[in-house]
Amino acid sequence: MEKIYVFDTTLRDGEQIPGACLNPREKLEIALQLARLNVDCIEAGFPISSPGDFEAVKGVAERVKGPTIVALARAVRKDVETAWEAIKKAERPRIHVFLGTSDVHIQKKFGLDRDKALERGLEALKLAKSLCPDVEYSTEDASRTDREYLARVVEQVIAAGATVVNIPDTVGYAVPQQFGRLIAYLMETVSNIDQVTLSVHCHNDLGLATANTLSALENGARQVECTMNGLGERAGNASLEEIVMAVRTRKDYFNFFTEVNTPEIMRTSNLVSRLMGMPVQANKAIVGANAFAHSSGIHQDGILKDRATYEIIRPEDLGIVEHEMVLTARSGRHALKDKLLKMGYDLNKDEFEVVYDHFLEVADKKKRVYDEDVDIIVQDVIFAHLDGSKLFSLESYSIKTGNGDAPEARVRLRRKEVILEASDQGDGPIDAIFKAIDKIVGAFHKLEDFQVKAVTETKEAMGVATVRVSREGHRALGRGSSTDILRASAKAYVEAINRIHYLLQRDSDTDQPENGLAL
Ligand code: MN
Repeated sequence: MEKIYVFDTTLRDGEQIPGACLNPREKLEIALQLARLNVDCIEAGFPISSPGDFEAVKGVAERVKGPTIVALARAVRKDVETAWEAIKKAERPRIHVFLGTSDVHIQKKFGLDRDKALERGLEALKLAKSLCPDVEYSTEDASRTDREYLARVVEQVIAAGATVVNIPDTVGYAVPQQFGRLIAYLMETVSNIDQVTLSVHCHNDLGLATANTLSALENGARQVECTMNGLGERAGNASLEEIVMAVRTRKDYFNFFTEVNTPEIMRTSNLVSRLMGMPVQANKAIVGANAFAHSSGIHQDGILKDRATYEIIRPEDLGIVEHEMVLTARSGRHALKDKLLKMGYDLNKDEFEVVYDHFLEVADKKKRVYDEDVDIIVQDVIFAHLDGSKLFSLESYSIKTGNGDAPEARVRLRRKEVILEASDQGDGPIDAIFKAIDKIVGAFHKLEDFQVKAVTETKEAMGVATVRVSREGHRALGRGSSTDILRASAKAYVEAINRIHYLLQRDSDTDQPENGLAL
């Protein structure tokens, strides 16, 4: 069996979703989980895009051991140098240079011709190679590129030292057989193709990203670029869990393997979904809530007689296990510390103390605290409360509501040492709370999305609220958790506002890449 290299780009392509701005601590936590999932490569970000992303990539490069850490760069000197600056301390660094190869990209985006574009790409690649031995080159929009030209580009970038050449279906235009033939054509035509790992990067605009990826593997590609839960630009990228489980479940057909530690899939999926505020659709392949729910009587009967009748994947292979009762209010510091270590959280002393306080609060109200609750506590406390961008925090709220009266909320926020207070009315209790918070902050925030979800399936479950707000052209996500959903919502709203403040401050000293990013 041949190995397929799994290149995860959740932290780069996945993070290009509008409003899914992860802070450096969150990126690090996802990267640590991706390392536990044992992917081969983690594309940590696009360091030139913002000082925040530079810091995040640097943090991942310095802390995450095991996978190759990749940083993206346009075929521009400053991008390549900045990418290297961010990842040079990684155990295994890789610079990923990309440049369009389709005529529409070359002419419309860059105003160049094919030869000039290739020259520019080679120049950037050689610079990258002089800094880092492992360099990946992406031929952006390859699926809409003239194939003779594409073959010429691939041959020359290999000659110039690329170690991985990636063939992206940037706009999700390819169909499986045709995309497979393109890969086969490159394998046959490019004389030095055996010197590199050929990679693919498929988008899901036509719902074909996984199919195109698998077709490419059958024709010679050996690296797959993918994201957790299929997140990414527009309709998203090929989904990691689908590719990995397709190869694993049908190894009789593909004769490939990956080194992904599949029992970590579910936890990775949950972490990414929560931190990025992107819920997973219930019928999503592999990780959807209904992926293993058999509801028809005929199926249930079959499953009871033998799971193999209607089940091709065992839930435990994805890490789906029955809730284990883990901790109670009587569990001490030691038990919690032990649990956190087992779950892979590496917290410092201050972080642990805050987590412990929050745990006691939750355990007081909920009799049993499950693994999922511990995940939420850690995410909520660490990410929201020890974030450097924090400006306001929720002190308390109270609400007066009842038959026919407009609900009225009174909210107290802390801003450094000062307690600020306001009250307001709204259409409902949450609306009233948000209005009161706006009053304190002195700015109006447009609420674009609001969700509350229970963490576990019991009545005493913790609720996690996610809000997306916008103000002055910035969008931000906030999360909050509590056994009380009004409190969770208020915390989420305050966190979103803190992030908007952070973005507004950052606004002035950042130059965004002018062409955007569509790899
Ligand atoms: Mn992409």
